Amino acid sequence: MSRPGNKIIQAKLVLLGDMGTGKTSLVLRFVKGQFFDHQEPTIGAAFFTQILSLTEATVKFDIWDTAGQERYHSLAPMYYRGAAAAVVVYDISSMDTFSRAKKWVEELQRLGNPNLVMALVANKSDLDSRREVKNEEGEQFAQDNAMFFTETSAKNANNINELFYEIAKRLARAS
Ligand code: GDP
Ligand code: MG
Repeated sequence: MSRPGNKIIQAKLVLLGDMGTGKTSLVLRFVKGQFFDHQEPTIGAAFFTQILSLTEATVKFDIWDTAGQERYHSLAPMYYRGAAAAVVVYDISSMDTFSRAKKWVEELQRLGNPNLVMALVANKSDLDSRREVKNEEGEQFAQDNAMFFTETSAKNANNINELFYEIAKRLARAS
């Protein structure tokens, strides 16, 4: 709950990244605490809300998950419009998805709002034995692009809450 006098921030957050990287799974883990080994590809309803209370503010996230449009390797401008935060996701077991993540970041820089809070997320950290992308590669790219970076697993919940708390903090600081 928000305290009296506590600032309330409503923030649209969008997810980008190749199909199969775990965008929907990250959101479901964060919003519902659930994970499915056979997550159905998202079709239709792809809008979620979640509230995080920090000491300095209460952040109400409106989370937009793609309804499969990412397969066309670009997203409609209305998807980004008005977004305050963006999470770009790749899968640590696929170098291809990391290459594509870089393209998604470029697209965001072209179409997103200039004050966008951006995070680069290396998901499926539980698949370390099949790792193709080193932690340092993600870290470096994020640093070069002024993005927050973390490795997550929607499967075992590694760093999921931390990711959204960090974004909330940055949004509070920027508002
Ligand atoms: P999206 O297309 O980016 O929305 O990806 P999905 O959330 O639909 O996930 C694609 C597949 O990856 C599904 O079979 C998920 O169960 C699986 N998946 C998602 N996150 C993880 C994770 O952190 N670890 C593992 N091992 N599998 C995951
Ligand atoms: Mg999806």
